Amino acid sequence: MLTVTFLGTSAARPTVERNVSGLAIHREGETLLFECGEGTQRQMMRYGVSFALSEIFFTHFHADHFLGVIGLIRTLGLQGRPEPLFLYGPKGAKKVLTTAMQLGVERVPFPVEIVEVKAGDIAAGPVKRDGYDICTFPTEHGGGPSLGYLVKEHVRRGRFDVEKARTLGIPEGPLWGKLTKGEDVQLSDGQTVRPSDVVGAARPGRLVAFTGDTRPCAATVDAAQEADLLIHEATFGEEERERARDTGHSTAKEAAQVALAAKAKRLVLSHVSARYSISADELVKEAKEVFPNVVVAKDGLEVDIPYSD
Ligand SMILES: [Zn+2]
Ligand SMILES: [Zn+2]
Repeated sequence: MLTVTFLGTSAARPTVERNVSGLAIHREGETLLFECGEGTQRQMMRYGVSFALSEIFFTHFHADHFLGVIGLIRTLGLQGRPEPLFLYGPKGAKKVLTTAMQLGVERVPFPVEIVEVKAGDIAAGPVKRDGYDICTFPTEHGGGPSLGYLVKEHVRRGRFDVEKARTLGIPEGPLWGKLTKGEDVQLSDGQTVRPSDVVGAARPGRLVAFTGDTRPCAATVDAAQEADLLIHEATFGEEERERARDTGHSTAKEAAQVALAAKAKRLVLSHVSARYSISADELVKEAKEVFPNVVVAKDGLEVDIPYSD
């Protein structure tokens, strides 16, 4: 399974309806946290997101995206956690997050490792990933380095055609396994069977792209090509398109244009200005004119991302 839970969908400051940025991605029993605005830990409790996580990824260091890490780390300490925690962010992460770790008189009783990543990196760190990578791409936000993230699953093996294997007289057992792994096999009658005879084409993995705060930009279009899900910021509506440009943000329509150019399958907008806190209908309407498969996230929204085949 691959599921995204929106923990906070408000830009700059919390409102009654919406908390500031926080996003949990669950994959095969693992939880990854992207952004950790003030109050994120309470949103995690509210929406049932596990505290057993070992990585948090930050897109940039405006306060609405990271202040919550101070409290979350104290709570993880109280839980007696021994495992290390890895924090990823663009250049400047070490300075900002080290300061955040040192605030208060409590000592953090488990190791915290801060990893600075550049656009284009695979944010590997020392954590071993099974079947996917987390990659970064450059965004255009201003006021310091900023990054977007991709959760990119590896290509999966093609499907094994059981009927065809039986027709060809391949006995069930180790030979099936070898063919699945891409090896030629020889049958007892001397006939050679190639994997392509019984195994279909490799199937793509899923791709989730998350922009953080940004102007609409070509780097996002490139990174999010055919993404199963694009999560793009949409701080403003068209009536404030100049303000979006001046503050390094996007309008809903601009985000939709990025999704269209990237041929993304689905678009979820987040990081909306307080004026759209109660109703974001206007943003949905403007985005839909460009890209129909779009919603504006609200806190607690869960999105499942199925395989396309
Ligand atoms: Zn922000
Ligand atoms: Zn920002």
